[in-house]
Amino acid sequence: MKIALIAHDKKKPELVQFSIAYKTIFEQHELYATGTTGLKITEATGLSITRFKSGPLGGDQEIGSLIAKNEMDAVFFFRDPLTAQPHEPDVTALIRLCDVYNIPLATNMGTAEILINGIKRGDFTWRKIVHDQS
Ligand code: PGA
Repeated sequence: MKIALIAHDKKKPELVQFSIAYKTIFEQHELYATGTTGLKITEATGLSITRFKSGPLGGDQEIGSLIAKNEMDAVFFFRDPLTAQPHEPDVTALIRLCDVYNIPLATNMGTAEILINGIKRGDFTWRKIVHDQS
C-alpha cells in the first residue's frame, strides 16, 4: 500500500513516536511524506520515505495530486487544531480530496491507531479492487 505521512510542527513528535511504535508495519509499505515530517521520521526510524516539498511550500498539494490520480491508499495527517497554518487552504484541499476519493485519513492519534491496525490486518482489499478497475 502507498501511505502518506504528514504532521504539523507541534504534532511531529507524536507522529515520530507513532512511526517508531509501528515501524514493523510501516516498513512493509511504500511511504511518502511532506519534507520535514519525512526527514524526522527517517532520522528516528531509518524507514525509507519518498519526501515531497515541505507542506507550506506545496508538499500537501503534491500528496493531493497522488490522491487525485488514485495513487495513494491511506493518509496519516496529524493536524494541529490549535495553531493557525499559513497553508490552511492546502490542508483543507488535501482533506477534501481524501473525501472525494474515499481515502482513509487519520488526523489524530486515536484514529491513527485504528487505521494502522486495519492496515496490519489487511482490511484494504477494496483498495485493490479500486486499483484494478481504474
Ligand atoms: P512539513 O509539512 O512536513 O514539511 O513540516 C507538513 C505541513 O505542515 O503540512
